[in-house]
Amino acid sequence: MKIIKIVGAGLAGAEAAWQAAAAGCQVQLYEMRPKRRSPAHHTDYFAELVCSNSLRAAGLTNAVGLLKEEMRRQDSLIMACADACRVPAGGALAVDREGFGRMVTERVLANPAITVHYDEVQSLEPLLADGSLVIVAAGPLLEGALANDLRLRLGEEYLHFHDAVAPIIDGATIDMEKVYWASRYDKGESRDYLNCPMDRPQYEHFYQELLAAERAPLHDFEQEKDFDGCMPIESMARRGVDTIRFGPLKPVGLPNPHDGGREPYAVVQLRQDNAAATMFNLVGFQTRLTWGEQKRVFRLIPGLERAEFLRFGVMHRNSFINAPRLLKPELCLKEDERIYFAGQLTGVEGYVESAACGLAVGRNAARAANGEPPLIWSRQTALGGLLGWLQTPNANFQPMNVTFGLIEPLGYKVRGKQNKNLQIAQRALKCLAEMTETDSMTDNKN
Ligand SMILES: Cc1cc2nc3c(=O)[nH]c(=O)nc-3n(C[C@H](O)[C@H](O)[C@H](O)COP(=O)(O)OP(=O)(O)OC[C@H]3O[C@@H](n4cnc5c(N)ncnc54)[C@H](O)[C@@H]3O)c2cc1C
Repeated sequence: MKIIKIVGAGLAGAEAAWQAAAAGCQVQLYEMRPKRRSPAHHTDYFAELVCSNSLRAAGLTNAVGLLKEEMRRQDSLIMACADACRVPAGGALAVDREGFGRMVTERVLANPAITVHYDEVQSLEPLLADGSLVIVAAGPLLEGALANDLRLRLGEEYLHFHDAVAPIIDGATIDMEKVYWASRYDKGESRDYLNCPMDRPQYEHFYQELLAAERAPLHDFEQEKDFDGCMPIESMARRGVDTIRFGPLKPVGLPNPHDGGREPYAVVQLRQDNAAATMFNLVGFQTRLTWGEQKRVFRLIPGLERAEFLRFGVMHRNSFINAPRLLKPELCLKEDERIYFAGQLTGVEGYVESAACGLAVGRNAARAANGEPPLIWSRQTALGGLLGWLQTPNANFQPMNVTFGLIEPLGYKVRGKQNKNLQIAQRALKCLAEMTETDSMTDNKN
């Protein structure tokens, strides 16, 4: 039996290791932390959530909710740990960040089929030398020797863009007289989000200061290129005075009990970041303002006048490869089938998508090691749709979150979006059940 070596114990690498081990393979997992950390990683836990603690929507009428359910049904380690570490977040699945990382780490370390090496991989060649298969799951912040190795191997098909992290504040420093608990349209538990209401003058003042605030300079290797899914709040604000009021500061469905139940002009939402409710992140406030300016401008938000920042928002390079040009459907290189890619580096975007990609690649590398043909997930499933994106020729290939648009349409008309999404989800889960039974997932011909 061939050994499977995995570079990176992030969301994709940890899940891939778990899946390959479950398929009977011996796995060697290489993780560079604690010897070296990316600028966004703050702990030594595997599968660290580097920004938000939310794994996004929970329900089946949302594509990422469906993807999570598909993962649960395929024995995903990441989903098992996320469900066990859940904290209140209305219609979303948010987790206790530290508890989640700790649980993933403990479960991987306790798996007898997985050996962990705390080393930075500098080049793939030594890993391949004994005939092993290699999964590169080094994440979007990959840099240094391995990044150069991949650049040489893949040429100009190696790309990058930017991502930004939202700040986290100390819950004890929020002025509870000014803020109020509520989730939009009262969905789920009412103590899900703390809301900081703004009237019009407060909003306009905040908006002007946000526009004027100083931004951290870009490094030489970085270009000004934002990705819509994780756009800095100050970049979004530049699009127009009301853009953020229709985005992260949307007041709709959040009546203020301190103001006779009237909807404020704008609302900043704070989401609980740990089970003890001592840390809160500013929802949608990814930013690359300088730390001093974050303190000054975000303290203009009502209720945050004396907020202590436990972590400031930061901005980073975000790397991905040109998957449609480089990868086969099972996500190994067309030019070298010993090398697989998993996670955000392939061009999927998001925690859940990265882990889902790791699940698929872990299983397929194990099948290759066992001499079996690859599994190809139907495009009627969310996972099949997402992986299909990595195969769709695209002159301007960009990372992608899972959406219903990636999943094969129903082929008949259904009234109402929610109803249509639910039918797609039900079909996906049925399709997955059939696949799991027959293990012959071969209808990905689009
Ligand atoms: C700054 C930032 C913020 C983000 N915020 C969000 C968010 O809020 N929500 C969301 O859904 N998605 C977010 N993403 C996108 C994405 O979901 C995460 O980056 C996710 O962690 C990707 O999972 P991954 O497994 O591909 O990589 P990672 O989770 O980053 O894992 C890669 C692992 O590989 C290790 N590694 C790297 N190089 C080597 C090497 N040479 N040798 C050994 N080990 C190595 C790293 O230490 C790390 O543990 C964000 C991305 C970035 C960059």
